[in-house]
Amino acid sequence: MSRSRDPYAPQADPWTWPEERWRPIVEKVRAGRSLKPAAWPGGARCAVALSFDSDHETITLRSGDRSPGRLSQGEYGARAGVPRILGLLRRHDVPATFFVPAVTAMLYPDEQRAVIAAGHEIGIHSWIHERNSELPPEDERALQMRAADKLEEIAGERPVGIRTPSWDFSEHTLAITREMGLLYDSSLMADDDPYELLEDNAPTGVVELPVEWIRDDVPYWAPDRTGFLRPHASPGDVLEVFRREFDGAYAERGLFLLTMHPHFIGHRSRIQVLEELVRHIRSHPGVWFATHADVARYCKEQAGL
Ligand SMILES: [Zn+2]
Repeated sequence: MSRSRDPYAPQADPWTWPEERWRPIVEKVRAGRSLKPAAWPGGARCAVALSFDSDHETITLRSGDRSPGRLSQGEYGARAGVPRILGLLRRHDVPATFFVPAVTAMLYPDEQRAVIAAGHEIGIHSWIHERNSELPPEDERALQMRAADKLEEIAGERPVGIRTPSWDFSEHTLAITREMGLLYDSSLMADDDPYELLEDNAPTGVVELPVEWIRDDVPYWAPDRTGFLRPHASPGDVLEVFRREFDGAYAERGLFLLTMHPHFIGHRSRIQVLEELVRHIRSHPGVWFATHADVARYCKEQAGL
């Protein structure tokens, strides 16, 4: 597979560009109307959608890295993280969504079957955690389609949503997602609450369930292995950020969507953060815990889309 030049590399002199040059860049993929419903199912005042990106070894493999040391960090996600997470979700009766690279599913088919059997959702998350913005569009398209087929073959359910790997959403991703007839994407950051995606200013009917680095475990816990900077935030600090994000969503009757990774949140000191967060959320009346697909479906229905 050939690698094209990075189309997102800084280009010379954008301050000299005429409006016809910069405006279409901004308008390629944009937020359309809000799909935040007037009320959540059963009169709930807030929706909670937890997601786990089961990257496991693919973060290492995607760069062609063969290091058993680094691969083992991802292996931990499958071996220790996911079982702990599934146990927690079961104890608290919380449905969740797992975004799974096809290569992860091939390495751990039983894990994916257990996720589905427990009533959770599996969504598309690339072939091998490739960097979409560095791929020729035809390769991105082929990989996204193959990934969906592989997940269906292994887990027995056709995925209806996608989270691009590392939230690397290229200029071509939305067209591929539309061609596949997917219900939703969960990779963009233009709002706290669900919205409809526009492509070249035209409504697409694709629901965006927005993410943010604030509501992701990676920036708090992913160390720079070789540098001096190893930013391990304390569990308490991370819990406080997540709790405040939920409190804000509850106050605004919106969506609280949290992205986690089994090889980060799955550690002993950190799974407690999730446990305490779920307890905090459960102490509030009127919270709807749902998979991403259920949230997207409900929002789309309510908007008459
Ligand atoms: Zn990922």
